[in-house]
Amino acid sequence: MVLDAARLRVEGVYEQQQAGNYMFRVKVPAGVISTEQAMKVADVADRVAGGRLHLTTRNSIEYHWVKGDDLSEAMRSLAAVGLISRGACGGAVRGIVCSTPFSPAYPVVQVLGQKLHRHFTGNPHFEGLPKKFKMAVNGDYSDPRYLIQDVALVYVGTDYETARYDLWTAGGLGREPSPGYLFEKAVPEERIIPLVEAIIRVYKERTPPPKRLKHLLREIGREEFERLVHEKLAGQPELSIRDAFEKRLTALPAGNEPHRVEAGVFAGELSSETLRKLAGIAGRFAAGYLVLTSTQNVAFLLPDGADPTAVRTALAEAGFDGTGRDQRTVFRICPGNHECKMGLSPTRDIARQLLEAMGDAGEGCSWAISGCFNSCSQPQLADVGIVTVKSVANPDGTRSPQFDLYRRTEEDGFGERIRERISVDELLEAVRQMNAAS
Ligand code: SF4
Repeated sequence: MVLDAARLRVEGVYEQQQAGNYMFRVKVPAGVISTEQAMKVADVADRVAGGRLHLTTRNSIEYHWVKGDDLSEAMRSLAAVGLISRGACGGAVRGIVCSTPFSPAYPVVQVLGQKLHRHFTGNPHFEGLPKKFKMAVNGDYSDPRYLIQDVALVYVGTDYETARYDLWTAGGLGREPSPGYLFEKAVPEERIIPLVEAIIRVYKERTPPPKRLKHLLREIGREEFERLVHEKLAGQPELSIRDAFEKRLTALPAGNEPHRVEAGVFAGELSSETLRKLAGIAGRFAAGYLVLTSTQNVAFLLPDGADPTAVRTALAEAGFDGTGRDQRTVFRICPGNHECKMGLSPTRDIARQLLEAMGDAGEGCSWAISGCFNSCSQPQLADVGIVTVKSVANPDGTRSPQFDLYRRTEEDGFGERIRERISVDELLEAVRQMNAAS
């Protein structure tokens, strides 16, 4: 069967590095997924992806090694539990991410995430964009990933029953990392959809493919960009998105008790069997919902009365006893050339070597490795970030990757590149030296 790549992308599908195999991505708004949905995700993985799953840094789920003939059936199965992939790749509004799942405001922002997902997903006015359009809803400023979105909404409080959000825009990583800027402070929720629509319309009309919004800003400057957005907004009504009753999906925190428990999933790689176990734990202890985190882990938010010790025991029985460095260390990892067509290095294998090299001292840092300059694992926002920048041919016909190494010291900025185009051995040695120096 011949499949059209551009049409596949908007359905959430890319061809893998291995021709004839596909990556199929499912949106999970703000990372909240129910036990029933997770069970279905696991069933589909068994049928079409060899029982394996990948959790992404954008709260999404990817299936790899899917055959073209299986895509339609997989989508039908997932649609039965309300999971869709439309716009998960290509020039569309991507999955709505939340990188602050443990913020007290997570119950509020997860609901906004669902609303934005419903409004923009599959809406033809917001497809056919020059490139991807990434959005985030964060509960506070504790995580810097609001800096790398096309639009990020950071909750700043509620007054007179109206939730308000700072709106940041035009951020992104890739070859030319560029932090977003604060477009407007304390936007009331009634203005969010009209304002985001105006930003996307300006982006769509003014930006040549395959450029991101940050390129438009660089071309025309903030002043002109803001003028164009306000011109689009003129005459647009504010839209009430208030609810008649509370719509949060996860449990409310349990008083002063620890209310969260997290399973460390190395490299975001899960088997269907393990996902079923985690879904069962959510059903027993976390009011039937799991949270996929931006660190590629699975979290459980516990209601009043739940016993965190019992949850930890259940997790240990499921293989998450937290004893291995691979479970304790925050290490964001993209699929690299294990599967991704753009990948220049075997990211998971190198991450395993780095876990050895970092020693105990490295566990206190956050780490990220990307298989190419696209920086899907956000290495510029990790304490130690690694970007694969080149793959060089060796005389014997094999290829060797080269890496840039970043260190981040400022809380609200990007990491600084401290080494360029180094080999795997040089990278491991640099990490050992960091360990020795700490
Ligand atoms: S960073 Fe590059 S190799 Fe990694 S998933 Fe993104 S596009 Fe693929």
